[in-house]
Amino acid sequence: MASENFSVRSMAALCYRYPLATPVVTSFGRMLSRPAVFVRAEDEDGVVGWGEAWSNFPATGAEHRARLINEVLASALVGQRVDHPARAFETLTKGTAVLALQSGEPGPFAQAIAGIDLALWDLYARRRKQPLFRLLGGLSNKINVYASGINPDGAARTAEAAADRGHRAFKLKVGFALDRDLANLSALRGIVGTGMLAADANQAWSVEQALKILPRLGGFSLRWLEEPISADRPHQEWLTLRSSAPMPLAAGENITSREEFQRALTEDVLGVVQPDIAKWGGLTICAGLAKDILKSGKTFCPHYLGGGIGLLASAHLLAATGGDGWLEVDVNNNPLREGFCGPVATVTEGAVALSDEAGIGMAPDLSSIERYRTV
Ligand SMILES: [Mg+2]
Repeated sequence: MASENFSVRSMAALCYRYPLATPVVTSFGRMLSRPAVFVRAEDEDGVVGWGEAWSNFPATGAEHRARLINEVLASALVGQRVDHPARAFETLTKGTAVLALQSGEPGPFAQAIAGIDLALWDLYARRRKQPLFRLLGGLSNKINVYASGINPDGAARTAEAAADRGHRAFKLKVGFALDRDLANLSALRGIVGTGMLAADANQAWSVEQALKILPRLGGFSLRWLEEPISADRPHQEWLTLRSSAPMPLAAGENITSREEFQRALTEDVLGVVQPDIAKWGGLTICAGLAKDILKSGKTFCPHYLGGGIGLLASAHLLAATGGDGWLEVDVNNNPLREGFCGPVATVTEGAVALSDEAGIGMAPDLSSIERYRTV
């Protein structure tokens, strides 16, 4: 077995941007292209690990995150010895804490560091010749997934196509005109039958609006309602919603501190908790957090909406953690995801089986997307 201790020979981010014919719509904005920031780490022995940094918003932000990795963060690791990915995560986080504050950019720094963290975990698992989910303590390679990114336009058509490709669980974007949201929920409930259906408002409503809308959503047996109000609204508002919501509430993609997650785990507000390993915390924090979510009696569902490498790493985290949650799988056309998520591209009866190859089990051939590269 290779030594656990390795020296980082190179660390680089590559940014891609796939132009969309049909924009992806959320309640807070439209995506006219799909970006991805892939991170490649290589050690002294030529072992290569891959990661991905969250980069969806703002529309110009992906290139910035890639440059943060290449021009600010990589130099802190190249030539250094790493005995464990968690140590590198702490070194980078502590070493850039003041710079991130001074820049007013704790988010982009956290996302760039998360991308590096995923690459180092993949590399670490490959050196140990273990699939990532097993290295993190997973027992089964099988996970459940749900179809996500379902736009309000043509929602039923999108869901039917996803069902034809093996999906059995669905999450609809809501937070648009209420009549339209209700009609789409009704159509999707018809398609999924008694199966899993959830809704994501993407922080669209005020608490007053949400309190009026909640009873209208009561008849759809939603598995969860995600971010009905802004993640940072006063705590009392979330408590108020919880006491009148006919379904579990979900959030996590916009929670960005250990303290906030700790509070979410100790309180009866969120039934479903959704950290995003590419957006905050990487695997270094989120692997332990995911186990804590299960211990607290809540459901762990990894949030993910990006390219294939981060999706595959998120699948490994869910397999490592267990529980009865689902992995979020975007069903919109995106070559930056489709060719790079390995077995997650093959959904059978709502589930995915990870391979037993080392690391995330996939070495990307990026030649097919070179024309979309921007950094
Ligand atoms: Mg969401």
